[in-house]
Amino acid sequence: MPASLRRIDPAWGISIEESNPEKVCKYPACPRRSTGYEGRKMKVCARCKHVRYCSKECQREDWSEHKKKGCKDYQLVNDYGGWMEEYRGIFSWAAAEALRIHTSDDILHNVLQITATYADRIPAFLGPVPSSFYIISSRVVPLDSDSISAMLASPRDREESRQIRANGGIGRAVFSFQFLEDPFSAKTTAIFKPFKIDFNDPPTPGFAHTIDWHSLLLGTVNGKISVADLSRRIDSQPTPTGHGEQTADEADILVDGLKDIAMT
Ligand SMILES: [Zn+2]
Ligand SMILES: [Zn+2]
Repeated sequence: MPASLRRIDPAWGISIEESNPEKVCKYPACPRRSTGYEGRKMKVCARCKHVRYCSKECQREDWSEHKKKGCKDYQLVNDYGGWMEEYRGIFSWAAAEALRIHTSDDILHNVLQITATYADRIPAFLGPVPSSFYIISSRVVPLDSDSISAMLASPRDREESRQIRANGGIGRAVFSFQFLEDPFSAKTTAIFKPFKIDFNDPPTPGFAHTIDWHSLLLGTVNGKISVADLSRRIDSQPTPTGHGEQTADEADILVDGLKDIAMT
């Protein structure tokens, strides 16, 4: 299956599928550019799945430049989906509490808005962070309070949420995730990503203590609270992952990890 290429739309700051990717080798001094890469299969960078090279040689030549500009930013587009799944357990719990699904109709009218950035882009004193991303803020906002929330929670989501309730479930919790590429830069780009959790069955009770959802969510993901320390049950305990600095050696791993991409 061909890898799907995505890019960040600079105007909207959202991730969009690359519909007509440029089929040129990214290395500016590529010796094969003028010949149309005859007989070669283009490959994409295995880390960011965004830039193309005609050969390992070209990628190796371009690595210091690509590492400085772009590779990690593009990785953000690929990474956040996995991160949201990894922490689904804690997000489910936060949604249940924040949208008061046991006692109210909030789930039909509100969105959980979360802003996050790469964990390795925050000042050292805030860490160490066990997660790939650091949550900067989280809050509940009415569905139509801003254009992003309205866009991420479509009328169809609301209808499906009502249908889940009509069938005896709780409804669909909608998150509006905003990923900042760099929280401290004037040029910060945000990527908006919806995340939805359907509560078909009432969630299992198991949180004996009352701690506000905001503190528990941030504390757990950002590493200030250990889930094991809590005398409560959480469905899935997050596994620590990290974004370490890439060393020079890793450029070679990257080269070996190049994936074929179908050229059509
Ligand atoms: Zn090349
Ligand atoms: Zn890359």
